[in-house]
Amino acid sequence: MSAKTIAVTDAIWQYLIDVTVREPAVLGKLRDETSRLPNGGMQISPEQGQFMALLVELIGAKRTLEVGTFTGYSALRVALALPPEGRVLACDVSEEYTNMARRYFREAGLEHKLELRIGPALATLDALLAQGQEGSFDFAFIDADKANYGGYYERCLSLLRPGGLLGVDNTLWNGAVADASKRDPDTQAIRELNARVADDPRVSASLVPIGDGLLLARKR
Ligand code: CA
Repeated sequence: MSAKTIAVTDAIWQYLIDVTVREPAVLGKLRDETSRLPNGGMQISPEQGQFMALLVELIGAKRTLEVGTFTGYSALRVALALPPEGRVLACDVSEEYTNMARRYFREAGLEHKLELRIGPALATLDALLAQGQEGSFDFAFIDADKANYGGYYERCLSLLRPGGLLGVDNTLWNGAVADASKRDPDTQAIRELNARVADDPRVSASLVPIGDGLLLARKR
């Protein structure tokens, strides 16, 4: 019994990985290759990936959006959970990193599920809205530059259908959000979004302490 969420020790985390996480081989390979990159720590953890795949299955998602794809671990995790006609529209600024994502989608036989948009994501999302794609996505995942989280949130919420689900990564920011001495712009931007979503009547929300914090918001 516990009145609050337990602190995840290394031993508990290892238990999660060993006993409860089932990671397809292609994802394990992608995670290994990414972890050797200088900023390999940016990819989501395996248990978070499995949780997101479950969410995508639960809501019966077909069309999904990702803001900040990096080398593609979360995008491929989601793509593997989608039905054959499912698609991931993935936004990122890096050709280099998304080429790796493309390579692993190909290896998984899912290249047809990946729609990459290279460029600043605010512009990509605005273009989708201008094309009349409001309300056309089932699931969206935001994991990009923190300063723009507020802008990504508003646009993704517009692009989601009612009942669609939004996930925002790093919303505990390694605990900095709860440390009043941390006043840097990224921490402030994440704090502002967490507070805004908690009071936003357009969504039902929960900040889940998995990975570095996954803020979930279901569009009403
Ligand atoms: Ca992240």
